[in-house]
Amino acid sequence: MSQYYFLPHERIDHLLDYLMALGYNIKGPTVKENSIVYDDIDKADQLPWGYVDNQTPGHYQISKNDEKKAFGFSVPVQSIKPMLFKEKEVLWRVSRDESGKLAFHASESKKKYAIFGVRPCDLRGIEIQDRVFIENAYQDVRYKQRRENLFIIAANCTSCHQNCFCVSMGDSPYADHGFDLAMTEIEHGFVLESASDQGRQCVETLALLPASADQTQKAAENVESVFDKQQKTIPERHKVEKVLKNSWDHAQWDDVAKRCLSCGNCTQACPTCFCHTQKDAPSLDAHQSEHLREWDSCFSLDHSYTHGALYRQKLSQRYRQWLIHKFATWRDQFRTKGCVGCGRCITWCPVGIDVTEEINAIVKGDDQ
Ligand code: SF4
Ligand code: SF4
Repeated sequence: MSQYYFLPHERIDHLLDYLMALGYNIKGPTVKENSIVYDDIDKADQLPWGYVDNQTPGHYQISKNDEKKAFGFSVPVQSIKPMLFKEKEVLWRVSRDESGKLAFHASESKKKYAIFGVRPCDLRGIEIQDRVFIENAYQDVRYKQRRENLFIIAANCTSCHQNCFCVSMGDSPYADHGFDLAMTEIEHGFVLESASDQGRQCVETLALLPASADQTQKAAENVESVFDKQQKTIPERHKVEKVLKNSWDHAQWDDVAKRCLSCGNCTQACPTCFCHTQKDAPSLDAHQSEHLREWDSCFSLDHSYTHGALYRQKLSQRYRQWLIHKFATWRDQFRTKGCVGCGRCITWCPVGIDVTEEINAIVKGDDQ
């Protein structure tokens, strides 16, 4: 049985100091340019105290109230993805000396990160990307190194936004595994549990007191309340997977293509999308070159370029590729689902396309 502790709000700094003394750089939610984003923090006062977020299809807005809560918002704009799988990074550099000899230099970062406040959906996003980048035929050494250097403090959800649908994906607002520490915010602080040796060591060093029965009860109530707040749903997953795999010529693909801009926002905001491209950037004097990897999207026209041909020229084909991969064929490829129900693709779609509505139009239409 888990032992629960209480971390008062005024002791968050002690936790951050402890992690920094171990050599961790801390990332946590903070307010930047009218958004809540993960960024470097080293003090509790940088957290988004009193901020809440309002997210609907194609809409995001934050506002401040008088509540002394650091995690009154639902999810930050971006997930943990860019901390492990960088938007753009140099994979290697090559230089040529006077004699014309080439030397290759690997590019790596040994920085250790601790993330304060990872939402359960983002935790599952990491788990899915682990399948892609580590537990696959080829291991991505950079991702693996960052992953091994990560200390995770999960933050159970006590609210959700209107586009969340993790419950319908078979998940929940609880972080159930994959963290060092997990916390639930209540009045004056957090109810905390540890799930790793490092997490236990942290609790012990900070000499945290056990949470009272009232505090653990209140924490559980706060998280339980989220189940009933989520409104978006999709049908049961076996049905979704079966129908989608047989929906290649469904009229809905042409319908959504009339609305979609092919901007790729949905894929950039998604914690599990991993499409990328690679290119070389040689210097003008031809003495050095960098080999870069950067995020791409299955909505990019040239992402399907293969041996002289584009095989997803039509927008309807690119949207179909994204949705069927995410909600059906991903499981064949990685033995897991491709969506965690965070709702970011709905919020950040400039024309408000809602993936749950597109799925329902196809799958429920199949019943009629
Ligand atoms: S498909 Fe949409 S809801 Fe699902 S994980 Fe990606 S961004 Fe979140
Ligand atoms: S964000 Fe919306 S408009 Fe842009 S590619 Fe995705 S579905 Fe299309």
